Amino acid sequence: MSEQPPIIVWFRQDLRVADNPALAHAVQTGAPVIPLFVFDEEGEGKWAPGGASRWWLHYSLEALSDRIAALGSSLIVLAGDSQSILLELCERTGANQVYWNRRYEPAAIDRDTRLKKALADAGLRPRSFNGALLHSPLQIANKSGKPFRVFTPFWKHLRSIAVREILPEPKKLESHGFETLGSEIESLELLPKLDWADGFGSVWTPGEAGAKALFEGFVERGIARYAEGRDFPNEDAVSRLSPHLHFGEISPVQIWRMLSLEEHEPFLRQLVWREFSAHLLYHFPDTTEEPLNSAFSRFPWEFKGDWAEAWRRGRTGYPIVDAGMRELWKTGTMHNRVRMVAASFLVKHLLQPWQVGAAWFWDTLLDADLANNTMGWQWVAGCGADAAPYFRIFNPIGQGERFDPSGEYTRRWVPELAGLPDKFLFKPWEAPADVLEAAGVVLGVNYPLPIVSHPEARVRALEAYARMKENE
Ligand code: FAD
Repeated sequence: MSEQPPIIVWFRQDLRVADNPALAHAVQTGAPVIPLFVFDEEGEGKWAPGGASRWWLHYSLEALSDRIAALGSSLIVLAGDSQSILLELCERTGANQVYWNRRYEPAAIDRDTRLKKALADAGLRPRSFNGALLHSPLQIANKSGKPFRVFTPFWKHLRSIAVREILPEPKKLESHGFETLGSEIESLELLPKLDWADGFGSVWTPGEAGAKALFEGFVERGIARYAEGRDFPNEDAVSRLSPHLHFGEISPVQIWRMLSLEEHEPFLRQLVWREFSAHLLYHFPDTTEEPLNSAFSRFPWEFKGDWAEAWRRGRTGYPIVDAGMRELWKTGTMHNRVRMVAASFLVKHLLQPWQVGAAWFWDTLLDADLANNTMGWQWVAGCGADAAPYFRIFNPIGQGERFDPSGEYTRRWVPELAGLPDKFLFKPWEAPADVLEAAGVVLGVNYPLPIVSHPEARVRALEAYARMKENE
């Protein structure tokens, strides 16, 4: 047993043992390590984890706990205020240092800044590291020393700078002897009371081993088709790594260093969108609620609860939108192309504020990530960094025909339309009565009539945009 006082390694959104800077540095000191996770709901401010994220967190903590046990130690799990818990645990264990990997969301930054001071005031030594991103947002600036607001120059800059090496993974962790101070993971009550999440387990394997297996399978089977296939929801061409990345079960550094930029540029470019969103949220922390382009704070949204609800439930009458919303509810994810179409439909066709959609995604996405979700919604709504121009309005019929040409994806999630021929699958209201009858579709009865007409909604959205511009 080492003579040195123990170091607490506080796990947060870095639920892995490999390439974990806080853990690697603590182990390197030779001091005993006390691995800790604190479920600090209040510390998350307005953005405490949603239902789907809690499901993931439960299983990810189980996986981390097993992994740490296999290395010879044990994960202490507690719930409550991080600061009081850390101070108390240092006192009870004799630890004089606390190591963690930084998070870059506004509430986490506020809390960690206060906490660092409180620990230092108590004579303890806090140390934080970057384990979540390729580069710390503080180290990235454009030629004028300002944060990037446009993706392409950000990407060019990032691809030209070196990424650190993967850190060694501990072979063994000494037992610390304080296991009895923790609680059971079950006591956090993260799993939903409803049976809504029952299907998630057949699609996902939270935890470091699940992330590794998924990444290796993707490199073997999917990555070669990524550039051509990534826009097609029915093709198995994307990595599905986003929840694993969000919870830090695999690090972007591991991915970057295991792939070659020459060979895998399209995929690594997408990974850098994740960096870009973290960079934006770090520099523009109000964007979780407020549009980055402040002109949009005057946008004449229409607040219609029943329209927003039809969208949430996948009952808009637009099959590609409904397919995406139902996929989300059943599996906790939605393909990126369909996210863009469904989100655009809510903000442009239905004129509902993007914040309403972002809140629903926050609750139902397993990969719900404050930076990515905020950037995704603001991008779609036309008010974010490097956003699509507002007046470019996705046509939900054309998008379905183009990106789900066989209709397989849409038929899977909207089975009541499965019997319709391809020609009418994305616009059932245009199908002749005999075609509808042969397919067993009764519009307005077993599948909704379109909630709004596409051409009319398009004109209304453009008028709303023009009204906003008039008031500039
Ligand atoms: P891949 O295509 O395999 O990409 C690999 C990784 O790169 C992803 O896991 C992700 O970490 C990152 N990435 C890829 N595309 C993007 C992107 N456009 N923006 C940021 N990072 C990206 N992603 C989230 O992780 N969490 C969210 O809460 C989230 N909300 C979104 C909301 C909207 C309205 C939109 C349009 C997009 C949102 N995205 C979000 C981005 C994107 O849809 C997902 O990251 C992607 O679908 C995840 O699937 P994948 O892991 O197979 O991605």
